[in-house]
Formats: sequence, C-alpha cells, structure tokens
Amino acid sequence: MARYLGPVCKLCRREKQKLLLKGSRCLSEKCALAPERKFSPPGGYSRRFARKESAYGVHLREKQKAKRFYGILEKQFKRYFQIAEKKKGVTGELLLSLLERRLDNVVYSLCFANSRAQARHFVRYSHIEVNGKKVNIPSYLVKKGDVISVKEKSRKIKFVKETLEERATGEIPRWLSLDAKKFKGEVIDFPAREDIQIPIQEQLIVEFYSK
Ligand code: SF4
Repeated sequence: MARYLGPVCKLCRREKQKLLLKGSRCLSEKCALAPERKFSPPGGYSRRFARKESAYGVHLREKQKAKRFYGILEKQFKRYFQIAEKKKGVTGELLLSLLERRLDNVVYSLCFANSRAQARHFVRYSHIEVNGKKVNIPSYLVKKGDVISVKEKSRKIKFVKETLEERATGEIPRWLSLDAKKFKGEVIDFPAREDIQIPIQEQLIVEFYSK
C-alpha cells in the first residue's frame, strides 16, 4: 500500500502544528516545533509562506492536515470522504469517525505503538490480532465488540516490548477499553466527535470537496 516516505517533520512545519508522527521525539525538545526552538518553515521563509492564506488555501490545509495525522494519501482519503458522504449524518464527523476506526489508529490509541506509523508497521508485520485472528491490513475498520490484541509471540520481541512499556501510562479514548496486562483492547462504542481530540475543523474538509 502506498504511503508517504519523505521527511515527516517537514509536514508538521508546513502545517505549523505538531502532527505527532515520530513517537516520543514529538514530546521532547528535539521536536522541530518544541516551544524552545525557533520555528522555521520548510524551505525557509519566503514571500509565499508569509502571504495570507486564501480561502481555498485554508480549506486545502485542513484536508492535508487530516491526511497527514492519519498517514494516508489523497486517493484513499477521498474514498473515506465518499463513504462518509453516502451515510446518514454529519459528513465531517462521519469522516473522522471512519479514520479513527482504522486498525492502525486503534493500535496507536490503545498505546500499543508510539506513533500511527509504528502502529501501521505492527499491523503490516502481523503483530496484531483482531478477535484472535491475524489481520495485517492497516485500513481494516474495527467494529463494536472487536477485540484487538498484540500477538503472544510478538509481546516478547524487544522493540515491541519496549514500546508497550513506554506507552503503558497513555490515555485511552472513551470508545475503547484496555486490559494492559493481557495486551488486549476492545471496541466498546463507535467514536463520537467529542472522542476525537485531534485539532481538525472537519467542516472545512467537507467544503473543500464540495467545491
Ligand atoms: Fe512533528 Fe514529531 Fe517531528 Fe515534532 S518530532 S515536528 S511533532 S513529527
């Protein structure tokens, strides 16, 4: 599956926001957007960067930000939007709910991985099971009642073990439950808008695609 392979901190600098793409580094002073560091936009300051964003630019940036948070590319993102558009309800909220239900995001939210990119890696390399069965598709959409666990054998791998220990105290969203000792989490509800903490104005994305 296609994914972005370029420098990720550049994406945060472009959005002028921490997208938390590099795990624990994002919370350290090494982060390019740490308050103690001087902000520099990708490519340095230019007239283009200093210019006031147009209305189109504002909508575009919001869509790009959401894509980058979840680590997905345009084609797939647009597909999620089309699915959300066909459902009954508020399209923007349905879009975010779909993105949240991706297996790689759930693995990250359950604190089994340091970043969404690492969660995707865990899924792709078959360290994760859903209802006791191997699922190696990061875009798999979890359902209510699904049990997500780290494969027993994988719990002993050094870097998996280290990650699990590192994130052991992380906060779990309301729509998931976690049994950390058993390396198991359950989907107890579908994510509602208030459960999604990422700073996205989904209405701008809807307007972007509706133009
Ligand atoms: Fe973004 Fe993390 Fe890089 Fe900071 S360290 S710029 S939050 S990816």
